[in-house]
Amino acid sequence: MSWSEILSSHMQANTRLSPEDAIILYNDAPLHSLRTAANKRRKQINGNQEVTYLIDRNINYTNVCTINCQFCSFYRPPGHEETYTQTVEQISARIDELEEIGGVRILMQGGVNPELGIDYYTDLIHELRNRHPTIDLDCFSPIEIEGIADVTGLTTLQVLEHLQKAGMHGLPGGGAEMLVDNIRKDVSPKKGSPDNWLRVMSEAQSLGMTTSATNVFGFGESNADRVEHMRRIRDLQDESIAKFGNGFTSFIAWPVQLENNTYGKRNRGRNRFELGAGPSEYLRHVAISRLFFDNIEHIQASWPTMGLSVAQMALLGGADDAGSTMMEENVVSASGTEKMSASENELQDAIVRAGFVPRRRNSRYELLDTPEPNTKLERLVAPPPAQF
Ligand code: SF4
Repeated sequence: MSWSEILSSHMQANTRLSPEDAIILYNDAPLHSLRTAANKRRKQINGNQEVTYLIDRNINYTNVCTINCQFCSFYRPPGHEETYTQTVEQISARIDELEEIGGVRILMQGGVNPELGIDYYTDLIHELRNRHPTIDLDCFSPIEIEGIADVTGLTTLQVLEHLQKAGMHGLPGGGAEMLVDNIRKDVSPKKGSPDNWLRVMSEAQSLGMTTSATNVFGFGESNADRVEHMRRIRDLQDESIAKFGNGFTSFIAWPVQLENNTYGKRNRGRNRFELGAGPSEYLRHVAISRLFFDNIEHIQASWPTMGLSVAQMALLGGADDAGSTMMEENVVSASGTEKMSASENELQDAIVRAGFVPRRRNSRYELLDTPEPNTKLERLVAPPPAQF
C-alpha cells in the first residue's frame, strides 16, 4: 500500500500500525500529513485542552563511569582528576532548592561507578526519603542498575528490590538510545545490550515502579532501525501491562547532541550531514511515535535539545507533555546544548502560546494544582482539518 492508503486506513479503523507500515510512513509520507494525523490521535488519547509539565530537578550524583559511550562528554574514568561523587548533604541541599519552587520529583542519574557499593545507594535513597518525604525519587537508569549488580554480585532484580525498600519510586528512561544491536555496538559497545535494558525495565515494572522510555536517534541509523526501537518498546509495554498492569508512562525522543564530544569529531567530511537530526526530522519522529504507540499514553516534547519553539511544534504534532524544568543537567549539556533549565513561567508561556492549557503533573502523570499562567492568549478552539 502507499503511504496515503496506510495513513487513511490506520486513522479510519484506528488499527495498530505495523512496523512495516510505520517504515513506509516514515520514508514517504509528507510531514504535514503525519503531523495532522498525529495531532488528531493525540487529541483522541489525551484530549483537546491540556498540556502537562513537571517541576523537577536533574541531579547527576557522580561522573565516574567505565562505559565510555562515544557520544558522552560528561563522564570521567575512575582516577581522573575531574571525577566527583556527591554526598547526601550536597544532594539534599539541591532538593531543598527544588522544594522552594514547588518541585515534586528528582531525576537522579550518573555514571557507572565501580567504586560505589550497594550501601552508598540504599543509604542515599533512605536518607533522601526521610528528609524529603513528598519528593518522588526517580533514580538510576538500567545501565547503572546493571553496574551496581556487577559490583555487588546481586541480580538486577535484587538491586531494584533493595532500592525500592529504601524508598525509591522509579527509574529514569535513560540509556535506551537505540535498542538495535548493531547501532548500539557502534556507539556504546560497553553499554548493556538492548535485551538487558528491556529486562531491567521489565523488572522495575514488575515491582510497580514508575518508568519511562527514551530514544536518542541520529547515529546514522536507518528509519527501519528507528521503528525497530519503537517496536521493542511497544512489545515490552504489551507484555508488562498484561503481566503487571504497569508499564512505561511515556515515550521521549531527542536527536543526539554532537557539538563538543568525541562522537561529534566523527561528524565531519561526508558524515557531516548524516549524524544528528534537525527540527523537521525530529517532528517526523514525534508524529510517527504518536501513531505507533497505541499502548503508551504520553509523548513528551524535548525542549532541552530542540528549543522551546520546536517543542511547541511537537505539541501540535503528537506530543502532549512539555517535559520538565530540570533546574540543572550535566550529561546532555556537556555535549553542547546550552539551555538546560526552564522556569515554570517559561514552560507555561510556551504551552499557552501553542494553544493549550498548562497543567502541573507528578512523575506518574497525575494532575496537580497549577498556578494561573501569566501569559493570556486566546486558545486554539478547533484543530486544523485532517488532510491526507
Ligand atoms: S552516557 Fe552514561 S553510561 Fe555512557 S559514558 Fe556517559 S555516563 Fe557513562
